[in-house]
Amino acid sequence: DIYISEDVSFSGLLLSPKVLDGLTKCGFKRPSPIQLKAVPLGRCGFDLLVQAKSGTGKTCVFTIIALEMVDVESVSLQALVLAPTREIAVQIMHVVSSVGFCMKDSGGERRRIVVSHDIQSLKVETFIGGLPFEEDVRKLKRTHIAIGAPGRVKHLIEKGYMKTDSIRLFVLDEADKLLEPSFQKDINYIFSKLPTTKQLLALSATFPPELKNFLSRYMHNPLHVSPDETAVTLLGLRPFVTLVRSHPNPAAQVQIKLDCLIHVLSHVSFQQCLIFSNYQSRAESICNMLNSRGWPATWISSSKSQQSRLEVMATLREFRNRILISTDLTARGIDLENVNLVINLDLPHDTHTYLHRIGRAGRYGSHGIVISILAEGKELEDFQKILGSYGRETAYVYKLTLD
Ligand code: ADP
Ligand code: MG
Repeated sequence: DIYISEDVSFSGLLLSPKVLDGLTKCGFKRPSPIQLKAVPLGRCGFDLLVQAKSGTGKTCVFTIIALEMVDVESVSLQALVLAPTREIAVQIMHVVSSVGFCMKDSGGERRRIVVSHDIQSLKVETFIGGLPFEEDVRKLKRTHIAIGAPGRVKHLIEKGYMKTDSIRLFVLDEADKLLEPSFQKDINYIFSKLPTTKQLLALSATFPPELKNFLSRYMHNPLHVSPDETAVTLLGLRPFVTLVRSHPNPAAQVQIKLDCLIHVLSHVSFQQCLIFSNYQSRAESICNMLNSRGWPATWISSSKSQQSRLEVMATLREFRNRILISTDLTARGIDLENVNLVINLDLPHDTHTYLHRIGRAGRYGSHGIVISILAEGKELEDFQKILGSYGRETAYVYKLTLD
């Protein structure tokens, strides 16, 4: 097990008692390799480019750094975390709140002891689009650590509701995604409104080289931190390809793949399964088809309302549902610990997306299976090209034949 090789516990990282207690409460005993490397550097105040595979605990890296720097006695916004999707923002909020549990007002008990003044306690909030704006304005009056999606955060800063002058830590989770053209204007704007002295942490599983150059413009002498192993995918993941015959008619091709999908679901045992499609409309129709064939499933894409997106993620987290059909909206960052089967129904557009998608299974060293359902001929060739660019280790894919 790669995670147990380092015999260092979190207490070896000289964390404060409250953060240590929070980690213990979350069941985290030992830091993962990336946590072991990045947390001490981050606490020294360095700007960091943190690169580590999916599911290796990058969230806790910045969570610990943020909790250690925040001063709960001061009612001001001190750390801002950005994530490319609203779902990731909510997930991060859960992690920061759980690890920061001991820094929170424990309600009745502590109140009974301190009667004379209101105790300050940690406030962590999310700021995401699709939910009422007024609520955000109210929350901002008390927030220490804000986690948000770029659009909403920019809007709140523009309107003067989010005060940035006390921000000392700025985090870009899934940094390579956040620096894509679709977000760049918002990120530039937000960045221009932050104090120049803040610390910046950028995290991702994948950092294309040109991005490192770009990011260094935002950073002061950044350190590039990554674990020593060079493998890009997780050890516990087994990638398979299953081939179907190709058909010139797109609708017929989809049907052939769906039959194969049903076959896979009936033959491969799994706890929870994520199925990726490139098309929003297809996600919904596949979901309906699965439901009608007796496989309870749900779907998500950015075309859904934010409220129902949050609800869908909650049904998976609480294990009320086992199958999610999704666009690349959930290809990154999403951490559902019971997902041990990922199916690519459509070929991802590039290698990075492939790596992010498959990283939804095999979280934190657990085992997972990835099955790409591909049409013989062109689609298989395209897939080989996508893998080929990443060297032998990723390119090794098993052929899955079901009867
Ligand atoms: P990443 O952002 O690197 O893809 P996450 O931060 O989402 O990964 O973490 C993946 C999973 O690993 C989560 O379920 C998290 O609870 C778990 N995890 C993180 N750090 C530890 C640790 N030190 N010990 C045990 N589990 C951990
Ligand atoms: Mg992550």
